[in-house]
Amino acid sequence: KAKEFAGNCYQLFSSDIENQAVEQIQLENDLFKALQKGNEFELYYQPKFDARTNDLIGMESLIRWNHPELGTLSPGHFIPLAEETGLITLLGEWVIRQACKQMKIWEEAGYTELIISANLSPQQFNQKEIVQVVADILHETDLPPYHLELELTENLIIHNTEQTLKTIGELKGLGIQISIDDFGTGYSSLGYLKDFPVDTLKIDKSFIDDVTTNKKNAAITKTIITLADSLGVNVIAEGVEQAEQAVFLAQHGCHWIQGFYYSQPLPTKTFERHFLKSYSQRS
Ligand code: C2E
Ligand code: MG
Ligand code: MG
Ligand code: MG
Repeated sequence: KAKEFAGNCYQLFSSDIENQAVEQIQLENDLFKALQKGNEFELYYQPKFDARTNDLIGMESLIRWNHPELGTLSPGHFIPLAEETGLITLLGEWVIRQACKQMKIWEEAGYTELIISANLSPQQFNQKEIVQVVADILHETDLPPYHLELELTENLIIHNTEQTLKTIGELKGLGIQISIDDFGTGYSSLGYLKDFPVDTLKIDKSFIDDVTTNKKNAAITKTIITLADSLGVNVIAEGVEQAEQAVFLAQHGCHWIQGFYYSQPLPTKTFERHFLKSYSQRS
């Protein structure tokens, strides 16, 4: 009996793994094809606001894949695959180009103060040509560089510090902004902050979630805000879902704020309708 049971278990387990592998390979093929076609990816935009005045200050670009059979896929479903297969380089380049093109359109419509951000995965950051890629896209889209921000994660900084420092310096040299995404969740020491010319710290959602009820997360959040102020850099909170969180953050001097409480990430037209009203009425 026991043996039979164990046998079944194994079979279940093994066919599960096989299915997963088949699905992954299928998705990998689809990803490759989608990159060649180029029209299945879309950027959604989530607004960022000044915590004190509630003014719109910019937006984060978040990629979606409109898969012909599977529907709209979130980055969690395909970014890791793109990273494993190296396709992230092409995909990431598409993201930066698309974000710059869109920001150029908004800039020409009179939104001359907004900053658009794009997420950069470690593999993409570590490709040799990244600085040239960004420089070419800025040139090609004719976007003034201060409109572009790249969101990097802390973990990228612990590897190969010297090269990382050089790359960030060169990216800054282009005139763009750099932020540290998911700040506080990485494994790096704070020491890097004195060397790396970053513009913004983005407090991770995990601290914000219970910032109004958990004393420790409140303390961490306040400390990050103070740290940012002492370093003379900007600070934004991500994942703000409740009014109380927004109030807490504004009260403690967090500069900027982003989250479902204000808006989910939205497709271009919807974003324009909600947040760029004067522009969408004209067009
Ligand atoms: P992230 O850069 O930390 O982005 C924040 C994620 O949290 C987004 O999920 C966003 O939709 C979600 N979010 C924002 N506000 C709230 C909130 O109030 N509550 C909750 N529950 N969630 C909120 P999304 O779009 O699924 O992206 C997940 C991650 O995928 C991103 O995390 C980023 O690391 C990565 N990603 C997204 N787009 C790109 C891209 O174009 N390139 C690369 N390399 N990575 C990307
Ligand atoms: Mg981000
Ligand atoms: Mg984040
Ligand atoms: Mg996050």
